[in-house]
Amino acid sequence: MAAANYIGRFAPSPTGALHFGSLLAALASYLDARAHNGQWLLRIEDLDPAREQPGIKADFARVLDAFGFEWDGPISYQSDRLTLYTSALHQLHEQHRTYPCSCSRKEIQQRTGTHQYDGHCFNQLPKANRKLATRLHCTSGALCFHDRIQGTRCHDLQQESGDFILRRRDGLIAYQLAVVVDDYLQGITHVVRGCDLLNETPRQIQLQNYLDYPSPCYAHIPVATNPMGQKLSKQTGATALDITQPSQQLFRALQQLHQSPPEELQRADVNTLISWAIQNWQCHNIPATEKKTAPLPE
Ligand SMILES: [Zn+2]
Repeated sequence: MAAANYIGRFAPSPTGALHFGSLLAALASYLDARAHNGQWLLRIEDLDPAREQPGIKADFARVLDAFGFEWDGPISYQSDRLTLYTSALHQLHEQHRTYPCSCSRKEIQQRTGTHQYDGHCFNQLPKANRKLATRLHCTSGALCFHDRIQGTRCHDLQQESGDFILRRRDGLIAYQLAVVVDDYLQGITHVVRGCDLLNETPRQIQLQNYLDYPSPCYAHIPVATNPMGQKLSKQTGATALDITQPSQQLFRALQQLHQSPPEELQRADVNTLISWAIQNWQCHNIPATEKKTAPLPE
């Protein structure tokens, strides 16, 4: 496959240090790209300065480098692209796909008993003298897509989540919109990422359809969990990757991705491990869900 046919990416947000779950997503997307002679881009999803951990962005490059990752082109930052997101928002507005919403989370909760939006401001004017969010009016009926690992998935956005936010009441652009615009402008053809984002995918596809962007090919890997079965994340206190011992963690990550690295590579350096993994990459070995939790490095 020619290089132009595959552009992948890894897109961490700078809310905390990279951990073993981040390594799995980075590694799976990297190996899949390189096994297809594709490009692999690094994008920092820094849309929310209030949640950003100071200094962590510079750290990402250092950590990924220590683990043997080589990204193509310069690192991109969502904070540099706000005008592009705003113009996509404007395009959707011109198509009458969006509407202003004054509802707080509390008001939605009181009306519906859930976080699911009930279309309140689609049917009537938002309250006066309130900050307004911008919502996307979604289609009802099944929206289906094929995932290389999870198979065919169908979602009814109206029933499952309702019209979703593109720009928050505090003015911040929502993740969904930024990701869709970035994937399009960067020519991303393949998205390989953690299953925690699987349910975000239909909303992104809805936006791609409305904006007339092609949808990338998706593959969602099972997420790593801690011994309590919680998803490894900054919120559940996942340990930061240790750059003094990258090989051990890479080896375990390859095992976790069901790539069966040979025992003799246990002590190999990162470049040897990565080369082996690219040559022997088998995306179809990754199961849709992890039956039992593999031991994870502490
Ligand atoms: Zn509303």
